[in-house]
Amino acid sequence: MKIPVIRTVKELRATTAEWRKDGLSVAVVPTMGALHEGHLSLVRAARERADRVIVTLFINPKQFNSTDDLAAYPRKEEEDAAKLAPLGAHILFAPNADEMYPEGFATTVSVGGVSEGLCGAFRPGHFDGVATVVTKLFLQTGADLAFFGEKDFQQLHVVRRLARDLDIPVEIVACPTIREEDGLAMSSRNGRLSAAERKAAPRIAQILFETAAQITAGSSVEKALADANNALLAAGCQQVEYLELRADDDLAPLAEATRPARLLVAAWLGGTRLIDNVEVAPVQDAAGALGEKERSGTLRAVA
Ligand code: AMP
Repeated sequence: MKIPVIRTVKELRATTAEWRKDGLSVAVVPTMGALHEGHLSLVRAARERADRVIVTLFINPKQFNSTDDLAAYPRKEEEDAAKLAPLGAHILFAPNADEMYPEGFATTVSVGGVSEGLCGAFRPGHFDGVATVVTKLFLQTGADLAFFGEKDFQQLHVVRRLARDLDIPVEIVACPTIREEDGLAMSSRNGRLSAAERKAAPRIAQILFETAAQITAGSSVEKALADANNALLAAGCQQVEYLELRADDDLAPLAEATRPARLLVAAWLGGTRLIDNVEVAPVQDAAGALGEKERSGTLRAVA
């Protein structure tokens, strides 16, 4: 059993037009390949919600802000195709760079607000590259549903924003982060870690979970973040690019966990940049305050 591979937008459109004629719903799962269980969980979720699933494989040069990172990015199309067939994905759309960005290509989709700060501050141009390619994939596939991982939490917000702002009729579905048994968030870049770095890497997730629990238990956010920063350095990270508490629904910076939040990190382990994030439940008191606000909101709405 082999998954059909499509290389051109024309052929992709011919296929989706047939599906549409039959009234079938379509999901897209955008990836850069080197598929692991994180990606496969998105494909399974897509299969549950849609009649037809398109997985895309495109190592998008526009979203890399380092040529070394782009050159070192793993390329494993045959293995990827073999992993997708048994899951029942219907098509692998794997265009080359000329198909995506033909001679004269001059358009950039740039999302403000949610793309600023966090990874946006350290990877100039990255989210423009992501937004541009994702917009193209939405328009090329005409998908009703698109599946993204919470692992790339800021990216998820950027994609939601662009779909809303550009009136693209696609439902963005968020899927939880899949982790190795020791807690390390799965990533195509984990393969670059040396044995010693790989051993240290799960500490990043452990520190995030411990810090999230402390914040929910009422610790000062400032102190919890400072302690976590030190713990990351002690665990072997050379640099912590950011470690921040942000609101879950709009990524607003939070000094206190007064509403559902995320703790997000980017840190370097040797020559590899790793990102991760975990949910932070509001502190008990804050949850009470939130309930109060919601109650008065409901009363206002009723009045
Ligand atoms: P990438 O190939 O890294 O561009 O990722 C493609 C999609 O897979 C994105 O929506 C990612 O958020 C998602 N993804 C990557 N790693 C994981 C993971 N460990 N768990 C869940 N989703 C993931």
